[in-house]
Amino acid sequence: MTGKVYLVGAGPGDPGLITVKGRDCLRRADAVVYDALANPAFLEEAPPEAERIFVGKSRGRHHRPQEQINTLLADLALQAKTVVRLKGGDPYVFGRGGEEAMHLADCGIPFEVVPGITAGFAAAAYAGIPLTHRDFTTSLALVTGHEHPDKKMSSLDWEKLATGVGTLVFYMGMANLELIARELIAHGRPAKTPVAIVQRATTPHQRTLSTTLGEVVERVRETQIKPPAVIIVGEVVRLREALRWFDNRPLFGRRVLVTRAADQAASFAALLESRGAEALICPTIATVPPESWQDLDREIANLPETDVLILTSAHAVDVFFARLRAAGRDLRALAGIQLAVVGPKTGRALEARGLTPELIPPDYRAEGVIEMLRTWGVAGKRVLYPRAELARDIIPRELAALGAEVADPVAYRTVAPAAGRERLLELLAGQKPDVVTFTASSTVDNFVRMVGEKEARDLLKDVVVASIGPLTSAAARRYGLEVTVEPADFTLEALTEALVDYFANAQP
Ligand code: SAH
Repeated sequence: MTGKVYLVGAGPGDPGLITVKGRDCLRRADAVVYDALANPAFLEEAPPEAERIFVGKSRGRHHRPQEQINTLLADLALQAKTVVRLKGGDPYVFGRGGEEAMHLADCGIPFEVVPGITAGFAAAAYAGIPLTHRDFTTSLALVTGHEHPDKKMSSLDWEKLATGVGTLVFYMGMANLELIARELIAHGRPAKTPVAIVQRATTPHQRTLSTTLGEVVERVRETQIKPPAVIIVGEVVRLREALRWFDNRPLFGRRVLVTRAADQAASFAALLESRGAEALICPTIATVPPESWQDLDREIANLPETDVLILTSAHAVDVFFARLRAAGRDLRALAGIQLAVVGPKTGRALEARGLTPELIPPDYRAEGVIEMLRTWGVAGKRVLYPRAELARDIIPRELAALGAEVADPVAYRTVAPAAGRERLLELLAGQKPDVVTFTASSTVDNFVRMVGEKEARDLLKDVVVASIGPLTSAAARRYGLEVTVEPADFTLEALTEALVDYFANAQP
């Protein structure tokens, strides 16, 4: 049986800009054939056992000739495989997708095409330039700028391009920029026509130069704008000033290191990215089960005698309910037990299980839980507090002092992730992050353990250290790290907004 080839457009770079259908194809792929323009994050969508074949340009190796790629696609399909040919942007826009499809058609191999967002459309949208606007232009051309200068660009009709089309978008045009500008002006486009060059569109590294046809060559030389870039020519470029939205978000261009555990990093990264930052995820903590479940399981068996259950993290909630289930019990085991949490995230984790906590302290701190339990009166009550191994012992100590009987079995431990050190050093050695964030004192402790105490101070000298609250800041200061940003509320949202404020004021 013959397989099928899907020519899939991956979009211009932002991993959110692949189509739902394209992603579905990736998830079903036996083989993914890709080149350099596609965002590497897409490869993770394919099943782990899928073959991943790189056919793009790479240093020290020649571009694989197009015929070889054509043959490869056909061969894979003949092995009954579901093949995804992942291409940057749209497969049928300057992507040689047409040649690949033609070869498949000639061989009688079934294929489908999943369009993608082409670089020109994406660059325009993310730079704030509507490619058409009825006040400025009614037509649009996508043009290759890649023809060899010696060829005299015979296949491009400069006169018609210069005068017959409103908006022009050149792909692969940076090497020929001078010729493009010269020919357009020579054939009747005014030198004052607005031009935008958008480099690495839709990524955290997007840069845009706005200028005119007459000045573009010199301005590119000055600003060092480089490929991959598209060149947008036309009156619509003027709209950018009013319609910019992507590269003027408050944290745009800021590289922010996220050190929290992998399973919790994504939500924080999403918050940072929504404000324009580039989030670099490098967990310094990983949560692992305790040496033994014995203590927690015994307390779960004791739930009928328990009066108050304190949970201080969403992870503690997950672990507690996993063990409850392992014991063959369910929510009903919690009937009559008062539920206390430290912060809103943990509260939401309980709500998601259909439980409403009685107690969330206004300051989201362990001290607040203790204070509220003091007002409730806990003398003689039995309190269960499944905790992280190295958690502060303030809750058990203070509650015991108030006359409660406290059980505090270990529900999880935090350790330094095995592969973390290398990635961390790599990140810190390259283009340095602007900010490192610490969201628990354990993230600081492990960061320092991973890179060394003196090294941590040196590495973070020009880096903004942002901490979620006083305990975490105190941990950082113990190692001689200067904490620059700390929000009033101990939440990730507040930490993100504190960074926004910091950079708003730091700007000249
Ligand atoms: N099939 C692709 C185009 C491939 S040709 C598409 O539809 O987008 C390669 C050219 O695309 C580059 O020379 C550059 O002009 C443009 N390009 C691709 N990705 C880009 C990006 N992220 N930002 C700006 N231009 C990009």
